Amino acid sequence: MSTRIVCLKNSRIKKARNRLYKMPFGHKTDMQKFASDEGTYLCSSCAQPLFEGDKRFEAHCGFPSFWLHVAEGVELKPLTSYGRIRTQVVCSGCSKHLGHLFEHPDTPTQLRYCINQEALKYVKG
Ligand SMILES: [Zn+2]
Repeated sequence: MSTRIVCLKNSRIKKARNRLYKMPFGHKTDMQKFASDEGTYLCSSCAQPLFEGDKRFEAHCGFPSFWLHVAEGVELKPLTSYGRIRTQVVCSGCSKHLGHLFEHPDTPTQLRYCINQEALKYVKG
């Protein structure tokens, strides 16, 4: 009897896991993960504000990802290296290379700023 209950529980857990795995809008959960983050990400070289914490989301690319930059905080430069067109994100204060801008169908701006961790300095808001 007790074994049967355990089996039921396990199958429920498995179903829940499958649902999570298949969730087409998993990114929304990931965005909510950072939604309460009211800090600001500054340039690690010149302390220029670059991104707000609530514009960060988890893109599972290994880099801090944002969907909007602080106005005037960054400059976007077209790059044609590596045989494809990309957009370079640089600090407007000191021209430090921050990362790259990509299209992202699931964000409010349909953009993803993929930023190097070491280029950012987080300050609590
Ligand atoms: Zn800078």
